[in-house]
Amino acid sequence: MALIVHKYGGTSMGSVERIKNVARRVAKWHKVDHKMVVVPSAMSGETNRLLGLAREITAHPDPRELDMIASTGEQVSVGLLAIALQAEGLEAVSYAGWQVPIKTDSAFTKARINDIGGTRVLADLDAGKVVVVTGFQGVDPDGHIATLGRGGSDTSAVAIAAALKADECLIYTDVDGVYTTDPRVVEEARRLDRVTFEEMLEMASLGSKVLQIRSVEFAGKYQVKTRVLSSLTDPLIPLETEMHSGTLITFEEDETMEKAVISGIAFQRDEARIALMGVPDKPGIAYQILWPVADANIHIDMIIQNTSVDGKTDFTFTVGRGDYAHAMEILTNKVQAHVKAEQVRGDPKVSKVSVVGVGMRSHVGIASTMFRTLAEEGINIQMISTSEIKISVLIDEKYTELAVRALHKVFELDHG
Ligand code: ASP
Ligand code: MG
Repeated sequence: MALIVHKYGGTSMGSVERIKNVARRVAKWHKVDHKMVVVPSAMSGETNRLLGLAREITAHPDPRELDMIASTGEQVSVGLLAIALQAEGLEAVSYAGWQVPIKTDSAFTKARINDIGGTRVLADLDAGKVVVVTGFQGVDPDGHIATLGRGGSDTSAVAIAAALKADECLIYTDVDGVYTTDPRVVEEARRLDRVTFEEMLEMASLGSKVLQIRSVEFAGKYQVKTRVLSSLTDPLIPLETEMHSGTLITFEEDETMEKAVISGIAFQRDEARIALMGVPDKPGIAYQILWPVADANIHIDMIIQNTSVDGKTDFTFTVGRGDYAHAMEILTNKVQAHVKAEQVRGDPKVSKVSVVGVGMRSHVGIASTMFRTLAEEGINIQMISTSEIKISVLIDEKYTELAVRALHKVFELDHG
């Protein structure tokens, strides 16, 4: 007997018929005496619909009220799923985040989980019930409902698994695992049986949409055994098959993993680049340029500062495309005159392409292979950033697919 957390995404919860399938699948696991906690998302499209209603009223709705609205999608899901489980003959009970409680901070629309109380859920599990908990939401210190940011149900599930010390957290989704790259871009993309937690973290932060990045952080921090697998298979396939399907996120590099130097190619299209040209090169400049941007809650990603020529330097950084207009406004109106920059330039049509692999630690020449491949395709590299296990380049957005395909091939990800 084990304690298992299942998470089902919006597509898996997309209709009453699909919810019944989720219930059948959960019942199959429960039947072999596993204690089951299920964390569903809102039905597909529902969160967008709800947020859209608010935006029909105003372009900048109050975040607290947005959370009040958006959190209802998951509330409907848990109720329906509990009823479907009961129809399967199981005892089931649903809870909203505040009832568990899942305690968060007060950063509405992007709250972080601080603590999860496990007593109530554990008591229900001991009594033989399946517990269904809303994804995506919690309650702040003043009792307000707060949501965890788009895709946040993944994080809810892994955090609940950590708090309950679950044996495994299975994330059921509409893809059957983690791929070497997006199969919509590269037909030859392959599913990985295993990926290390560090690689997954890089891939999630570099644009792979399979898991919300914070869920991967939780998995790493609390060593939650996490598996990404398909919810589109027959719900009654043998448990033995299902248990070993998909992609397992591992914590140590085993032997088979060391064979592949590169595990995947990630990309993020919606990037924007901003440069301040001709900035006097003196202490405090980087701070004076970036703090007003950070203060506006805009996330800054890659940063480059050149060595100065004649005491002047260029300072370039990237932000998400959604924040581009706002960041440009801050720089032209507030920062440029203050730091005496000659010019502010921007390009909202860039993308970031990255190669990721723990094997990079023990192999040389990965960067040069990457740069040669891009050169052969005539793709100009605008910025470069690296970590121990990844190399990212910023390129013109229109070459994204070409770059991803070429890199997938040169690093031999096409064949296992
Ligand atoms: N329903 C939320 C969203 O669409 C959370 C989730 O699905 O993970 O972003
Ligand atoms: Mg998702």
